[in-house]
Amino acid sequence: MAFIEFKNIGKKYAGAEKKSVDDFNLEINEKEFIAFVGPSGCGKSTTLRMIAGFEEITEGELYIDGKKVNEVAPRDRGIAMVFQNYALYPHMTVEKNIGYGLKNMKMPADQIKKKVDWAIDILGLQEYRNRKPKNLSGGQRQRVALGRAIVKNQKVFLMDEPLSNLDAKLRVSMRTEISKLHRELGATTIYVTHDQVEAMTMADRIVIMKDGVIQQVGKPMELYDHPVNKFVAGFIGSPQMNFFDVTVTGNNITFADGSTFALSESVVKKLAGKEGDMILGIRGEDLKMDAANLELYKESRQKAIITDTEVMGNENNLYFQFGGCQAVARVSKYEISQVGDEIEFVFIPSKMHFFDKDTEMNYICLLYTSPSPRD
Ligand code: ADP
Ligand code: MG
Repeated sequence: MAFIEFKNIGKKYAGAEKKSVDDFNLEINEKEFIAFVGPSGCGKSTTLRMIAGFEEITEGELYIDGKKVNEVAPRDRGIAMVFQNYALYPHMTVEKNIGYGLKNMKMPADQIKKKVDWAIDILGLQEYRNRKPKNLSGGQRQRVALGRAIVKNQKVFLMDEPLSNLDAKLRVSMRTEISKLHRELGATTIYVTHDQVEAMTMADRIVIMKDGVIQQVGKPMELYDHPVNKFVAGFIGSPQMNFFDVTVTGNNITFADGSTFALSESVVKKLAGKEGDMILGIRGEDLKMDAANLELYKESRQKAIITDTEVMGNENNLYFQFGGCQAVARVSKYEISQVGDEIEFVFIPSKMHFFDKDTEMNYICLLYTSPSPRD
């Protein structure tokens, strides 16, 4: 049995019309770092709070370490939780804040000191141990909140958007710190975020949700390269994947503005006879403008005029109108183009995704959802 197991978990809040979480099935291995990601309101916090025991599970069964916990009190579930709005005690120093929960648990003072010293050390808070929260930066305060959770030495760590209140630069450095902490402690971690970059950079596996329903579970690159539907394709990756309304007839693809080219044999084979109106998805980095690719994939060569550029430093995003839509190509910093320039580009055949117009499912990858952990 997996370390944490969700069996058909559902949640309907009293008085609500529809379920906030529906038929949630997932197995989590011991020591895994799992991210729940999805837009605001998709049910991430509700799911996390059901694991913690703060919210009643209205359907299904939840197992932690082989034991059904639906009716187990929060304090007996072996979990520690860090929230977005962690409240530190303003009148207490860093070390008192970190040790407070242990004192409450009636742990002897010498043991508390040992634990607090260990947490302060691991979180790099040595210089600040006697400061009060108001004299700490946002990142330091967040580390104290983490310290409070890790001293409890629990089997499962739950974090609900713990970095949302920090500025962008700090978020990046705290991401690395939390990953490092996870490697050192090895606690099974579930991390909730609406930020796909956090999920991509930190998690062993990502659970992507929409409207209370799991859309896909997989390693970051599985979701990036093999999204099961248009929602996952659009949610993961920045800038967003390009989507075009197209019609496929035989090996011919036609865009809404009449642009057309012949699909390569490999793509036609993957489409396995699917024809008609569909949505083509392709990431910005898979629209190529360099000489080698222009030659290699010349059958798909197209022209457009750049309408906007985003200079990122290491690379550039070039925006243009194509196929009746706004599109973006991500190119290296050496491929210099300006607004008004005409560009030529090609489509990398193996990176083209085709989504059903009605169901938005990916024709080429319908088999990627895996609720079980994989190596
Ligand atoms: P997320 O954390 O992904 O933003 P939530 O789990 O907070 O989403 O919310 C999921 C859905 O459940 C939303 O539609 C929200 O309005 C609803 N919801 C959350 N908490 C409650 C509650 N206490 N009572 C009723 N509805 C709630
Ligand atoms: Mg939430």
